[in-house]
Amino acid sequence: MSPAPADRLPSRGEHMSRTTAVSTDTDWLLCRGCRTPVYGKRLIRNHRVCPECGLHLPLTAEQRLGMLADEGRYEPLAVTVTSSDPLRFVDRVPYADRLADARARTGLNEAVLCARATVEGVPTIMAVMDFRFLGGSLGSAVGELITIAAETALAEHTPLIIVTASGGARMQEGVLSLMQMAKTSAALGALDRAGVLTVSVITDPTYGGVAASFATLADVIVAEPGARLGFAGRRVIEQTIRQVLPEGFQTAEFLLARGMIDMIVERGRLRQELGRLLRAATFTGVRSGGPAPADPVVRDHRALPEPNPWRHVSQARDLTRPTTLDYLSLAFTDFQELHGDRISGDCPAVVGGTAWLDGRPVLVLGQQKGHDPAELMRRNFGMPVPAGYRKAARLMRLAEKLDLPIVTLVDTPGAYPGADAEEQGQAVAIAENLRLMAFLSVPVVTVIIGEGGSGGALGLAVANRVLMFSSSVYSVISPEGCAAIVWKDPAAAPRAAAALGLDARELLRLGVVDGVLVEPEGGTGADPLRAAELLGAALRASLHELGALAPNQLGADRRARFRQFGSAVTVEAELLTISGEVH
Ligand SMILES: [Zn+2]
Repeated sequence: MSPAPADRLPSRGEHMSRTTAVSTDTDWLLCRGCRTPVYGKRLIRNHRVCPECGLHLPLTAEQRLGMLADEGRYEPLAVTVTSSDPLRFVDRVPYADRLADARARTGLNEAVLCARATVEGVPTIMAVMDFRFLGGSLGSAVGELITIAAETALAEHTPLIIVTASGGARMQEGVLSLMQMAKTSAALGALDRAGVLTVSVITDPTYGGVAASFATLADVIVAEPGARLGFAGRRVIEQTIRQVLPEGFQTAEFLLARGMIDMIVERGRLRQELGRLLRAATFTGVRSGGPAPADPVVRDHRALPEPNPWRHVSQARDLTRPTTLDYLSLAFTDFQELHGDRISGDCPAVVGGTAWLDGRPVLVLGQQKGHDPAELMRRNFGMPVPAGYRKAARLMRLAEKLDLPIVTLVDTPGAYPGADAEEQGQAVAIAENLRLMAFLSVPVVTVIIGEGGSGGALGLAVANRVLMFSSSVYSVISPEGCAAIVWKDPAAAPRAAAALGLDARELLRLGVVDGVLVEPEGGTGADPLRAAELLGAALRASLHELGALAPNQLGADRRARFRQFGSAVTVEAELLTISGEVH
């Protein structure tokens, strides 16, 4: 079944008149955030965000759909699921009476409203929770509706957007409520396997069973400012473990810093930001074909001048060189940054997200340094912690799910060598990326834009094509480190640089890189625009070439590329015979 054309969808007025009337009757309202009187009509124009303090007041499901759907038009899914009272639950009032009361007060049948709508022109299935209906609690009917929305998205191969607001599982339905967590999670898992984008929009509050199922399983988690998300609520935690929690605990801002959500978006920009994501995820245009674009890279090392390796080391570290974010704004368009590893943090030394190159979406990842001491400090000098590699892994899996080519830009002195990084499993995080990248079914192209420092660089560089700028370096260890270990003399760094073979000419000769981008006069920092043009052209050519490979060939190509290193060494034939590997 295909989505109804927009002109057949009901207009915003039909769905919103009943619910907005409550506010328009009141001329002035007192904001509970800043205690400032706010003119009612102004508040509504501002999507019920306080113009004084920015507090995001709750929306009804209908108001939310009206705000997110193009022109406020949406078509409710033609399903009616009604809660029963399986336990004949009675507390102070019978559950049946509570349900009847919630229906009368909200005009809704249940705590979630599912609809078809286009968002910035992209057809979607939306499931929007309404906190007014028994605190948005997850009962059997809510679980069923979320599942039906996911199944509809699956059948129609249409992105699913879930807007959450919930206190948790619905106690009046007992353990059957708990089962809804498993049911909805499976429904979202099916969308992962089918390559259908899922997005959750977290609104205040989202707790318990909803938080621990579909709200946090989405590919991309967007939250409104100040929205709280958590498994156990503040009061439960404080009463159970008698610990006073800090201000801002479990808020969107708190969660963003801890890697749990991708972005915080103010309500007024929500539809636009969702639209950017949806466009990149649903691109169906041609990825390859057409005439091969001009390839600016040098593929024969003899065409490059004799290097001065120590000089290249200092050029590669030059703070004027364009960084990953510079290239994202100069060589790509519409970069939408995604944050967090969903485990422990959001490493500022790795940036990633969707961007467009020549009218096609790609996923870009890269280490980020900076141009001044403040930015360098903030970005940890481009040295990722494990959360950085895990964020990269998460985004690479997302790219594979959505069939987006991956571009990685390498610029790091190395992975961060700190005690906390070790405690969080730096080695494991890097190793897992090497294995993940070896089997990705989408094209991967890496460009070393500055320093390619050891395992910290390779953790983003298991690519089908590895390119580098002519003054970049790529090495197993820094020349200083090598000098200290092998020469026992840090002053021997220039000799170490020459001996390590870390320059573009030598790396091309060894086949460690496939092509070299010859930098403008004075280096990439002297002419960032020209450098970005070169980078764009080189990526275009590589992606065009890889576009001819089938998904299973892409992984095989990548594994074969790395299999060859060291394969020319002499191996005792006897050993091979024993293992039966002689061909
Ligand atoms: Zn306010």
